Amino acid sequence: MAELRAFFSSHEDLTQVILYALVITSLWVAEVSLFGYSLKNKWKHTAVNSLFIFTALPIQLLLTTFIVLISSWANIHHWGLINFIPYHHNAWVYYITLFILLDLCEYVYHVIMHKVDTLWKFHLVHHSDLRVDVSTTIREHPGETCVRTCFLMLWTFLLGPAVGVLILRQTFQSISNVSAHTEFRLSPRANKIIGLLFITPNLHHVHHHYQLPYTDCNYGDVLSIWDRLFGTYTELDREETVFGIDTHMDEKVNGNFLNVIKVPFQKLERKENHSVVKKN
Ligand SMILES: [Zn+2]
Ligand SMILES: [Zn+2]
Repeated sequence: MAELRAFFSSHEDLTQVILYALVITSLWVAEVSLFGYSLKNKWKHTAVNSLFIFTALPIQLLLTTFIVLISSWANIHHWGLINFIPYHHNAWVYYITLFILLDLCEYVYHVIMHKVDTLWKFHLVHHSDLRVDVSTTIREHPGETCVRTCFLMLWTFLLGPAVGVLILRQTFQSISNVSAHTEFRLSPRANKIIGLLFITPNLHHVHHHYQLPYTDCNYGDVLSIWDRLFGTYTELDREETVFGIDTHMDEKVNGNFLNVIKVPFQKLERKENHSVVKKN
């Protein structure tokens, strides 16, 4: 047992991957049992998304090594914005400030992925899922995995967080991302309270609505405060939410891994060219 504990504490990234897989699998089983889906249909949808694990994992594990190196260098040299924050030697101030700043960075990253045409071509693969469930969490084009991890290198360089902060942040981020995609939704009352601070499934489902302006709203990663602050917060009832992206609604393309992988290399049809519904 002690050897097992020692192994997992020295392989943090592997531990995170195993925990992530366990949470996703449990929620997937819960979705099948509680929503009464046919196992065949649910599995057909999940199979496509599951293949993204094999492209994401090697990229993520390789590039994480560079993030750890940047973090260690920054800490040895007292480099990064965190060193200018008053009372940053206090562990609470240090962890909470960096957590909030990293969340702001993720918000900025998500907005960039939507607004820069070349990057949107990769990010729309995540949005092209015509049914959002827990497996959508891992539907990420390998090109986006590279870009996302490179941005995290940049944030690590600018802010200078210790590896411990990055691990804590990754844990919260994984829980938040998985729960944001699950088909389980909060009651309107619970959503009002929890959504004041955090991104809920109800809020992220709006981000997956197929039409503008909803696609360009609720960019938040863990916290919803940035959307409220920068005017990108919005709500939409489940009954009115249609998953997908209006430029890529073809089920034959979206339900085939190899077709989806090719999407970023095809001509981009801007989502702005499509019907924009009036925001409530
Ligand atoms: Zn998005
Ligand atoms: Zn999503």
